[in-house]
Amino acid sequence: MTEAWRPDGEDERRGASGPVKVRVPAKVNLHLGVGPLRRDGYHELNTVYHAISIYDELTARRGDTLALTMEGEGTGELALDDTNLVIRAAHALAGYAGVLPHARLHLRKQIPLAGGLAGGSADAAAALVACDALWGTGLSRDELAGIAADLGSDVPFLIYGGTALGTGRGEAVSPVLVRPTSWHWVVAIADVGLSTPAAYRELDRLRKAGTAGAPLGSTDALLGALRQRDPRVLARTLGNDLQDAALAMRPALADTLKAGEAAGALAGIVSGSGPTCVFLAADAADAERVAAGLTSAGVCREVRVAHGPVAGARVG
Ligand code: ATP
Repeated sequence: MTEAWRPDGEDERRGASGPVKVRVPAKVNLHLGVGPLRRDGYHELNTVYHAISIYDELTARRGDTLALTMEGEGTGELALDDTNLVIRAAHALAGYAGVLPHARLHLRKQIPLAGGLAGGSADAAAALVACDALWGTGLSRDELAGIAADLGSDVPFLIYGGTALGTGRGEAVSPVLVRPTSWHWVVAIADVGLSTPAAYRELDRLRKAGTAGAPLGSTDALLGALRQRDPRVLARTLGNDLQDAALAMRPALADTLKAGEAAGALAGIVSGSGPTCVFLAADAADAERVAAGLTSAGVCREVRVAHGPVAGARVG
């Protein structure tokens, strides 16, 4: 067994002495194809992840123990103990690298809890990148993504960001290489979150009852639309197999989707397991108009404008 070196001891020259600040984006799924339930309890996924410009920020400082504080979305609701994905990620990295998991971590959260935007996964990715820099463990992105896969299916994607294909249970990620295009999104955040496992259970129930829509199938049309760089074409190919489940659990989301389209969005879908709805706009000015329309329709807690793709968890 390797002896842990002390980030706050003799080897202090290794790693950062000052605070390390990491910004990490939220994700949406442009295509979320849900396959059969596997023996390990996960569903086989065929998804296209897309990182958008709504960010959490994690600051890591040297400390004598591992401690987490937070502000923003979910404060007072989200446990800051060993169940928090930030703490779990710090322990996982320390175990892998053979260092002591000592750090003072502060999370500024803007990604809503249980929103279908992978906020918890984003925070885990941020913790891996921040602690790697703080402790000077110097792991590659691919090594960090390997640790990330054990923390949650969406965590590896948030290490890389951009637009990427996800297979397996979502943890096997490969970048979608297209000429850079910025897509404009309007994000409608609901009052109360939805549980991801409950949404998958509801989809299984709908499929058993024969009342779920036909599965999406291949990502080819969506990938072709990304290459064409025309938002009107992309709008026709967005899809989410979990949308029926989210609508069954939260029927009011149908009003949110209608309101976004009435406000001029090219298309609207439920993000991941919901309840956040995301709308594609033709350009930045249109996104502002759709956001104003959605706000005045009063169908959600908050409306934000975002663009994508953006980078994954990064220092600075
Ligand atoms: P996904 O889109 O990946 O299904 P989500 O956006 O619906 O996720 P999250 O906010 O990522 O939901 O978190 C889901 C649950 O994970 C929370 O309800 C909470 O119990 C747990 N969790 C643990 N750590 C965190 C964290 N740092 N931030 C948010 N949730 C966390």
